[in-house]
Amino acid sequence: MFVKRVLLLAAVLMLVVVMVACSSKLPQKAVSPGGEAVMSATEVSAVAAGSTPAATAAAPASGGATASPMAEASLSQAAVASPTATPAASHVPSATAAPAAERIVPRTDKLVMIDPGHQRVGNNEPELVGPDTRETKAKVSSGTVGVRTKKPEYVLNLEVSMLLKAELLKRGIPVTMTRETHDVDISNKQRADMANDEGAALVVRIHADGDSSASTKGFSVLYPSPSQGATKPIAAESRQAAGLLLAGLQQSTGTKGRGLSARDDLSGFNWSKVPVALVEIGFMTNPEEDELMSDAAYQQKLASGIADGIEQFLNGK
Ligand SMILES: [Zn+2]
Repeated sequence: MFVKRVLLLAAVLMLVVVMVACSSKLPQKAVSPGGEAVMSATEVSAVAAGSTPAATAAAPASGGATASPMAEASLSQAAVASPTATPAASHVPSATAAPAAERIVPRTDKLVMIDPGHQRVGNNEPELVGPDTRETKAKVSSGTVGVRTKKPEYVLNLEVSMLLKAELLKRGIPVTMTRETHDVDISNKQRADMANDEGAALVVRIHADGDSSASTKGFSVLYPSPSQGATKPIAAESRQAAGLLLAGLQQSTGTKGRGLSARDDLSGFNWSKVPVALVEIGFMTNPEEDELMSDAAYQQKLASGIADGIEQFLNGK
């Protein structure tokens, strides 16, 4: 009798085990064509995965030279943002493995595009300043130059932009760049199109200023004018982002700067369909500020302050 009971119990247990095994296998098989990892992954990885084709698609329009920095940016973004998509990469932390302090935790699925202003060689071909004007401007100028450092603006812009990129990635914010080298040929409209194609949550353009007076100095943040028809849909959010960027810079540098400025004459604004702001980090025509902007510690302050503003903007969205 006892033996029979044990056998019966064993049989029931086996049946349960088989049923559990089957039921856990079935759904896995059912969703596997769609990719379980993709379905259950965070929205961040969806953005990261989605940005790769967009970047590839944008490459022909923006010239072959841009393909490599874009692809690079997408790759680094994917590495940070989608741990489930790259199980082979052992350095990518899993959701539970590493201690919290060492992990890069994606805080947002909102992609930020950084546009380091200008490039080694400007392009003076005319380009429409916006979709609702016949006015044209040079596709992209070569920018200003440091009165004391003799550094071209495009070099300084990229230095600060790369620090900003690192700062954002450290905070788990997905980043893509319009350029990571000087040898590109990307017009200001094309830079805006890149952000539109990627569906960026915010574009931050990094520039440095120049003036006829050597005494003019200080950072400022530009945003699309709300009176400009083409940028009406993004004006309020852009203005909000600009305010947060300015506050971040004021905090990190301990200086007031020159404030905010609404602009309706910038192609990079007028072609944008996503919120955009432009940081003029200071005046290269002011000898002291020119030197300061090439100081490593000050550059890091600029990057941290801008990143603080970006993070606050994203958190508020
Ligand atoms: Zn500039």
